[in-house]
Amino acid sequence: MSRFEGKVAIITGASTGLGPVMARLLAAEGARLVLAARRIELVEAVAGEIGGEVVAVKADVTDEGDVAAMVEAAMARWGQVDVMMNNAAVPGTDKFIWEQTVDNFLDTYKVDCMAAMLCSREVLNRSMLERRSGSIVNFSSGAGWDGMVRKSHYSAAKGALRILTKVIAKEVGEYGIRCNCVVPGAISTDLMVNYMKRVADEQGKTVDEIAAAIQAPLPLKTFSTPEDVANLALFLASDQARTITGQSINVDGGLIMS
Ligand code: NAD
Repeated sequence: MSRFEGKVAIITGASTGLGPVMARLLAAEGARLVLAARRIELVEAVAGEIGGEVVAVKADVTDEGDVAAMVEAAMARWGQVDVMMNNAAVPGTDKFIWEQTVDNFLDTYKVDCMAAMLCSREVLNRSMLERRSGSIVNFSSGAGWDGMVRKSHYSAAKGALRILTKVIAKEVGEYGIRCNCVVPGAISTDLMVNYMKRVADEQGKTVDEIAAAIQAPLPLKTFSTPEDVANLALFLASDQARTITGQSINVDGGLIMS
């Protein structure tokens, strides 16, 4: 398939986990790419491995200037942006609500929700509104549906991101632009492995035991791979999803059936 031939996509948080996987799949389908993250050496390595029409950009997605420069990198090279993947996220520090701090709550919110507003605003103003086309994909989490213990910061931000998705979709639909949200459950990435290691240490259990406990309630009894999640994201970004907007779609082994 070449669903992204002639299209330009920006991926935030493209240094680890899902970001590089989406980059490879998008490039394989013809997309020209801006890959953004704070650790430029990591995104440069991903860009170098993909080769061709890929630009690596150092950007903190919570910084308005960095976001403007990230979008400018796409505009300067190709003059358009067709796909915005708002993938960057942080887990924050696990705390019960009675331990929660303003810094932990707001720092998480800034990356996990506000940054999607900043990046969306920038690609809309610089390209999508004028061209009356484009697709924005946000990345929430199952924690943003039901909430997760010790993750009020992350759960609230990821829940808010689903509402942000709806508002964007309602506002930009008449311009031929779509906005949807991928809602992963547990993905087998570093983020997940580190989380399981932390919980295993805290509970005096093995990582395998923690993994088994997380998988037990899943009807499909398996974590999603980054490719499973990327496949949904690419579908939503592509013209195949041309009448789908404002949706939050779970890819989680069946844990949440909304
Ligand atoms: P990851 O931590 O591997 O990747 C996230 C990337 O965002 C990292 O490279 C990180 O450096 C980058 N990032 C963080 N703050 C940034 C900032 N201020 N500016 C720019 N980049 C920044 O995570 P992942 O597993 O690849 O997750 C991808 C998406 O899926 C995220 O939105 C995450 O919340 C969501 N998700 C993941 C899981 C999971 O199990 N891994 C579960 C549910 C949801």
